[in-house]
Amino acid sequence: MARILDGNRVRDEIKDELRPRVAALASRCRPPGLAVVLVGHNPASEIYVRNKMKACQDLGIYSETLTPPESASTEEVIEIVRQVNARPEIDGLLVQLPLPVQVDAKRVLLALDPDKDADGIHPCNVGRLVAGLPGPRACTPAGIIEMLKRYGILIAGRRAVVVGRSDIVGKPVAILLLHEHATVTICHSKTADLAAVCRQADILVAAIGRPAMITRDFIKPGATVIDVGSNYVEDRDLAARIFRNSPEKLASFDRKGNVLVGDVDPIDVVERAGAYTPVPGGVGPLTIAMLMVNTVASAERRLGVC
Ligand code: NAP
Repeated sequence: MARILDGNRVRDEIKDELRPRVAALASRCRPPGLAVVLVGHNPASEIYVRNKMKACQDLGIYSETLTPPESASTEEVIEIVRQVNARPEIDGLLVQLPLPVQVDAKRVLLALDPDKDADGIHPCNVGRLVAGLPGPRACTPAGIIEMLKRYGILIAGRRAVVVGRSDIVGKPVAILLLHEHATVTICHSKTADLAAVCRQADILVAAIGRPAMITRDFIKPGATVIDVGSNYVEDRDLAARIFRNSPEKLASFDRKGNVLVGDVDPIDVVERAGAYTPVPGGVGPLTIAMLMVNTVASAERRLGVC
């Protein structure tokens, strides 16, 4: 039976390690501060931002959400970013994606002060990542490395395959795995014979956005499988196929009209893998935990604590 890599447990550990660091900052100077710019009313984004605010409250990190209207222009969002850049009590800043279509997300990202870039995705921090220099790391990729390390999963010398080459997950997790001395292959939608490439992986990371696409043919027996996917399936036939042995999941689908599914087939992974992250409860909880890490580390750097 494959070992479950429990993201909630790792998140709690990370948060518990942050508590004394936040307390030390608060007693010596001030608590760390995180600002989130949430443009318009995307319901999923509103939930994500609420969860980020809750995590801050739980840790004693000062937080605030700035909410320009759905109609905001690129210039208006950039002006908000510039104002937050200049505020000394804010150590971390992020602009929640996706942005409304009229807002140029790349220009907004470039306006962030790289030292306050709580998501670790400003090109300057991508450069620091590639060069192995200190700086905020992309949260989900950093969370994946924490998960592997805390479960004692050997990375050095092992073959890692990352499916997905996005700027926020696929590319940075591949670089982080490389820094940990894995031999890394990055795959994407044009990769030939994807299943054969994935079957070579000791560590397989799926960051695709396609429900249950990674089936048993993609998984080397005993591999560690990290499922980043977060897909809401609304098609009952697809849900019934994915959760073919789980009447409770289907009952939940029938109540809610959708079900959360990763990029990895949840039954095949249990039968083939040596260890895997479930969805939900795997990679998901770590993203916010690493956002908190970036914010606290930024405050420590800015206040000269470390
Ligand atoms: P993205 O920007 O849409 O990138 C998806 C990647 O998958 C692309 O590189 C794409 O290849 C590749 N791909 C798509 N179809 C493929 C196929 N049939 N075969 C091989 N590769 C394929 O997505 P993302 O932002 O990286 O997110 C990926 C998933 O992770 C989504 O489900 C997202 O919701 C989830 N996510 C979860 C968290 C979390 O905290 N748990 C955080 C971030 C993202 P091309 O480049 O060739 O198009």
